[in-house]
Amino acid sequence: MKEKILKIEKGLSLSFKSLSDSIYEHPELGFQEYHASKAHMDLLKNHGFTIEPNIVNLETAFMATYDSKKPGPKICYMAEYDALPQIGHGCGHNMLGTSSTGAAIVLRYLLDEFGGQVILLGTPAEETSGAKVTMARAGLFKQFDVALMAHPDTKYRLSTPSLALQPLAFEFFGKTSHAASAPFEGINALDAMLITYTAINALRQEILPSARIHGVITHGGEAANIIPDYTRAEFYIRAESKNYLQQLTKRVLNCAKAGALASGCRLETSEYELPFDNMVSNESLNQVFYEAIQLFTDDEIITDQGAGVSLDAGNVSHELPCIHGYFPIADHDIPAHTLEFAQATQTPYAYQKLDEIICILAYCGYKVASDPNLLKAAKAEYDNQVKKGVIIPYQGGESI
Ligand SMILES: [Zn+2]
Ligand SMILES: [Zn+2]
Repeated sequence: MKEKILKIEKGLSLSFKSLSDSIYEHPELGFQEYHASKAHMDLLKNHGFTIEPNIVNLETAFMATYDSKKPGPKICYMAEYDALPQIGHGCGHNMLGTSSTGAAIVLRYLLDEFGGQVILLGTPAEETSGAKVTMARAGLFKQFDVALMAHPDTKYRLSTPSLALQPLAFEFFGKTSHAASAPFEGINALDAMLITYTAINALRQEILPSARIHGVITHGGEAANIIPDYTRAEFYIRAESKNYLQQLTKRVLNCAKAGALASGCRLETSEYELPFDNMVSNESLNQVFYEAIQLFTDDEIITDQGAGVSLDAGNVSHELPCIHGYFPIADHDIPAHTLEFAQATQTPYAYQKLDEIICILAYCGYKVASDPNLLKAAKAEYDNQVKKGVIIPYQGGESI
């Protein structure tokens, strides 16, 4: 099977490189990825996929399906293609999306033998209000059996945990007045904000070391001689589990309530972006990913379980067996979210690794399609994690 996958991929390699390069040259922010989503859809269509554009009412989201017309599992690959302000594809989503679309296309040419369906899901805006959250909330993933993807990095890494993330905005509404002649007439919204900020700083002492709270004040007032009547801040709260995130969010909310109470301001809170769940990697699928990397490369594979970032793939992992692995696009360390990382996607080394990861992900799909025991094990593991409360599928409602 290795030789077969290598041969199919080799024949398509140039079209995959062109897809990645074309998206690199047209970086688009989240929910504006019209060029990128069309480029993916065009290529998938050329290979016999049926395209459903605008899924879950998002213009740059889509679903592409290849049905072998024989019974078998539904294997979903997820493609991201959004860029960052100023630095374009500094997160390498041009290559990320291409690795998923490439794997889906390669697998499509194997599937007639084994049965099942391969689905490529175009998932916009990972860097901000991740569309996978909207898709998970809409129950989209319930129809698939597994979901797979891999992110550019500087090493091969297995799918690791990520932190659950709650975005929270605070707005304080007070009353202006002259800061020198009539300060007693004012209600100071900046004081409310500073009390909130200080209370959150105090709270940090008692939170688990793995949790994070960080924020910025986006509106602090207009002029030094006017008591500010409006301030606004945006915070991110992150934690290793959904349960702890909920507890922490309540405590951060209390800090803002303290600011409102002390200053006499009115407080409004909102979720300015969608919250991300923590990633719970499916170890049965992770094991296949590990074997596949070994099959196609001699590279070192990092297996540590470090968390730190937050991913909208986390929400997917609470809906079905899922992995979000990593593949190298440079042979030395380059931090993500930099111009250098974007440029690394344009090197011969990165193109070679793109070919490799496409083969690796296609091989994982082939294993799921051809080995019923693997799928059974992956599903049993998922069910068990739900029972233990480690995985909490979305059950409706807002998070704050
Ligand atoms: Zn990123
Ligand atoms: Zn990314």
